[in-house]
Amino acid sequence: GHVDEFSALGSDSLLALREQLQKEYLRLQERGLKLDLTRGKPSAEQLDFSNELLALPGPDDYRAADGTDCRNYGGLLGLTELREIFSPLLQVPTAQLLASDNSSLSLMHDTVIHAMLFPLPGGRTRWAEVERPAFLCPVPGYDRHFSICQKFGIEMIPVEPTADGALDIDEIERLAASDARIKGMWFVPKYGNPTGISVTAEQARRLAAMPTAADDFRLLWDDAYSVHHLTDQHTAIAPILALCAEAGHPDRVFVFGSTSKVTFAGAGVSFLGTSAANLDWFQGHLSKRTIGPDKVNQLRHVRFLKDADGVRKLMERHRESLAPKFAKVQEILTEGLGGTGVAHWTDAHGGYFISLDVLDGTAAEVIRLAKEAGIALTPAGSTYPYGKDPRDRNIRLAPSFPPVADLDTAMRAVVVCVKLAALDKLLGN
Ligand code: PMP
Repeated sequence: GHVDEFSALGSDSLLALREQLQKEYLRLQERGLKLDLTRGKPSAEQLDFSNELLALPGPDDYRAADGTDCRNYGGLLGLTELREIFSPLLQVPTAQLLASDNSSLSLMHDTVIHAMLFPLPGGRTRWAEVERPAFLCPVPGYDRHFSICQKFGIEMIPVEPTADGALDIDEIERLAASDARIKGMWFVPKYGNPTGISVTAEQARRLAAMPTAADDFRLLWDDAYSVHHLTDQHTAIAPILALCAEAGHPDRVFVFGSTSKVTFAGAGVSFLGTSAANLDWFQGHLSKRTIGPDKVNQLRHVRFLKDADGVRKLMERHRESLAPKFAKVQEILTEGLGGTGVAHWTDAHGGYFISLDVLDGTAAEVIRLAKEAGIALTPAGSTYPYGKDPRDRNIRLAPSFPPVADLDTAMRAVVVCVKLAALDKLLGN
């Protein structure tokens, strides 16, 4: 139905609306719901798309193309044929792409800890020797990136988007050039977590070219959603590794990716793509940690995916499963909150999330209200460094896991909570 802008309503109308919402909220609580919109996990239906993996590579199949016995030790870089499949998708030449075990997050974690303990190519000291090393963190962002920095004592400098919601590239350039403590930047370049926003060609070029005060500055380019389209308008991003090389900063970037949301979230394969010098550096450390990756799992992925087109076809099935869920969330948000002026949200064309901004100062309250009605939302502040959202307004919604019917119920409840918290705020409780 028609919704009025809350700020245009007089206090009588606001009070009446609040009374109505309080009743709706009580009815919600009576339903004893138990629903979860917290983590971006694939649904069981999505995991089923890759069940063939469970029977691969098969009883007599353990040789890689070059004759390597995948059951044995070795092969630190991973199977060439797997790296060839993901080379075009991650825009990294096969020779510069390492394939590893199930988690790209562990590759990111290791990259940071190695850089803390050993100088990077081009760097004079290890990061741990720098007084107050720091990272740029475009916000809202991915909590697990922030946890890595927090664990190792790397200060996080949040970079808010511009007024129109874009990456603030001017501010990033200014900060990176001004302070040698700033050693890196976390970035999800495509279908970002949680905004769904993708880097433009011009922004990528500027990130590759910008002068940095630190001689060992690194972009941690987490291309987690490179093939995770939600529409048939596929977003393409610029090849950052090539751009960095062209700009005279060949060692600036580490590209990460994985099949966690392609095949099995807990049993996929991961990738690290970077310059030859960075790769040597990383492999030198990796070789102390392991004799080689799980090549049987890599081989089973090769047999199942076959080639880059095999990946693209599989991602079409994911899209068919996910797009109706994202559409459902959009529909309910628009119907329930459109025109109220107390919420704004993103409409992602890919990835796993919708970023919902509620009225300033009410996100924690929305999450509390939802929790007490049986709906789990990501904790307030989790999209910000140190869990501190200065405006207490951002909520990450993850529609992938629940079935559409549950999503419908959960989102209708979230709408009630958003409006109720806004009215309480506007009416000064
Ligand atoms: N990066 C981003 C941006 C993510 O959203 C996720 C999963 N939520 C990951 C990394 C985790 O990747 P992996 O499963 O490969 O460790």
